[in-house]
Amino acid sequence: MKRREFIKNGAIAMGAIGLGGCQRPQEHQSITINKGKKTTLKLSTSWPAHFPIMGTGVDAFAARCKELSGGTLEIKVYPKDILVPALAVFDTTSNAQIDAFHSGVYYWKGKNSAFSIFGGMPLGLTSEEMVTWMHFGGGMELWRKMYAKFNLYPLIGGTTGPQMGGWFKKQILSLQDLKGLKMRIPGLGGEVMERLGVNPVLLPPGEIYTALERGTIDATEWVGPALDTLMGFAKVAPYYYKGWHEPGSILEITFNLNRWNTLSKEHQAIISCAASEMTTNMLNEFRYKNALALQELPESVEIKEFPSDVITKAKEVLQEVLEEESRKSSDFKEALESYQAFEKLNHPYDDITTRNFLNIRG
Ligand code: CA
Repeated sequence: MKRREFIKNGAIAMGAIGLGGCQRPQEHQSITINKGKKTTLKLSTSWPAHFPIMGTGVDAFAARCKELSGGTLEIKVYPKDILVPALAVFDTTSNAQIDAFHSGVYYWKGKNSAFSIFGGMPLGLTSEEMVTWMHFGGGMELWRKMYAKFNLYPLIGGTTGPQMGGWFKKQILSLQDLKGLKMRIPGLGGEVMERLGVNPVLLPPGEIYTALERGTIDATEWVGPALDTLMGFAKVAPYYYKGWHEPGSILEITFNLNRWNTLSKEHQAIISCAASEMTTNMLNEFRYKNALALQELPESVEIKEFPSDVITKAKEVLQEVLEEESRKSSDFKEALESYQAFEKLNHPYDDITTRNFLNIRG
């Protein structure tokens, strides 16, 4: 390796260690707090008020922006349905009705199929790997380029860590048992499930429990033990399946691009740092609270693994979906190629480090 390449690659590797630091720190070398200019932004979320981890995470983000800016940057957080409905946040930020939103990227695959890749891939990268791809492997540049067509500027606004596969009213003993099942499952996972015979449904958080209880849906995925327990799914669907479809979903803090461009460099830097902090904190909080909640699941809950024919078929079908979407959309193809290039780079290193550690420590 040439010396210059070595220095460049070394710098990338060292930078990757500091995931908790500012996003794109090279852009913010000289910062003075502009105390004179008070800015207030309206941010809507897709969650109920102070919803644990995701909602409280965005509350803490807003508080941090205020603190770091000496009170000059106020981000007013509105829970879902106060200013706009949960899943209207993308459009209403795009058309400047509100300034920003906090949501899950996987909700927007209908806008541009490529967005599902920035939200996370079934059987793909974990949260830590996703953030690395975004910040160092080119993912963020592509995400911003594609969101700019909607007049939006995204930042990573948290990540969930590995999610569970969902709650089922009946056991899944073979591929056949998925046929005709109605399941709340968004994103690429939903698309794969559809090809396995499932009828996927997109429902915002507030409507899932009632749909499951009344039998409007037969199964639902949500996140993991901590949040799933609060939703009460264990009461109506006792079979809790291990995950495959969301190994590391990305949440977003996204701004109207014109509004973002009117912000001072200082306020942009503060938002960027607070979003990075939120991402690290949310991942850690999810891990801790999920581990705790797993210990406290009711005894009636049975943890299950999908049968091997389901996983084998899901892998096959996922490849079909990726190939078809790549043929239909040049954006999807471009995002997928970048994602897969990082996957290829990362895999041999992951094999001899994380995967090995987890295997030997038992
Ligand atoms: Ca989920």
